[in-house]
Amino acid sequence: MPFDLATRLAERRAAHLYRQRPLLESPQGPVVQVDGRELLAFCSNDYLGLANHPQVIEAWRAGAARWGVGGGASHLVIGHSTPHHELEEALADFTGRPRALLFSTGYMANLGAVTALVGQGDTVLEDRLNHASLLDAGLLSNARFSRYLHNDAASLASRLEKATGNTLVVTDGVFSMDGDTADLPALCAEAKKRDAWVMVDDAHGFGPVGATGGGIAEHFGLGVDAVQVLVGTLGKAFGTAGAFVAGSQELIETLVQFARPYIYTTSQPPALACATLKSLELLRREHWRREHLDALIQRFRAGVGNIGLELMQSTTPIQPIVIGDSDRAMRFSQLLRDRGILVTAIRPPTVPAGSARLRVTLSAAHSVEQLDVLLEALADCNAIMEAEHA
Ligand SMILES: *Cc1c(COP(=O)(O)O)cnc(C)c1O
Repeated sequence: MPFDLATRLAERRAAHLYRQRPLLESPQGPVVQVDGRELLAFCSNDYLGLANHPQVIEAWRAGAARWGVGGGASHLVIGHSTPHHELEEALADFTGRPRALLFSTGYMANLGAVTALVGQGDTVLEDRLNHASLLDAGLLSNARFSRYLHNDAASLASRLEKATGNTLVVTDGVFSMDGDTADLPALCAEAKKRDAWVMVDDAHGFGPVGATGGGIAEHFGLGVDAVQVLVGTLGKAFGTAGAFVAGSQELIETLVQFARPYIYTTSQPPALACATLKSLELLRREHWRREHLDALIQRFRAGVGNIGLELMQSTTPIQPIVIGDSDRAMRFSQLLRDRGILVTAIRPPTVPAGSARLRVTLSAAHSVEQLDVLLEALADCNAIMEAEHA
């Protein structure tokens, strides 16, 4: 049968699900140049404002001068260099785990960890709202794959009863499209009863969450005995790129031996690891970033409450406003853009049908004044939307 891509694309367009890439013509930051226009942006994952930090840029520059630009080979051949190794040691110390392993992306870390740990005859249980990379990893593993109700320890428990073989419970730490936090103490308690392991992907928790930015594991005080596999990504609050898995010596050795997305890929540029070492230092030390961000989050929630828009249960920098229909979410987003504000509409299949939303994200780089500009624009646009549907 001939491929009919034109029909597929037309159907997607008709369903208001067509995706387009805004062209970023400036560095990441609160004020960006996009498609020829200056906009105030509330949609990046640069929660601590480190993606364009002068000291991180300088560390990258110096790293490139010292180590060159390319990794040159996979880690197991001759691509594992001193900056990679130092970063792994710093991440182990940061997470309070015996060891950490650097991956090129979070997507690969998740595929690598899940497929190395479970296979045919085993079981993988995932929150239904987990990140796509975790769901893909579960499917790819060939283990029995089942999804439990969102953040629901009772739903997890009923699936654990039917589990066979080695069982891995997998959850986002902070849910990427909702901003809520996994109920880890309850989930870990259920897993422990059945000798299952828990894997947490805290891509959005490291940096903003926890007293020193150690994410949800630090927040709940959960060590390697409760969360055996802890994943973090470096492209969000760290402001750079890459990811890590932290856990026991044995876990990390197992990944080095068996995680195909770790083994069969070129190491990330060593200079990038130099940059991440610097951003890790700033993330741990500069508490004012978390404090300012928390103040912005509280001000935003109070402000949106006054407008009468629906927020989700979130204490994190991810503060989605639920709209419902995809076309309405797109319209709202366009009205904001007409006022010089960039907030992306997130639609199915990224989120469940009927729950299209404006995914507002806040950053320590935003000022209170910039937040107030957003709140004013949200009130204006909401009034227009209501008038249109009256
Ligand atoms: C962004 C994200 C990833 C993927 O990380 P990359 O380094 O961007 O590939 C994985 N898990 C979650 C929860 C994420 O938000």
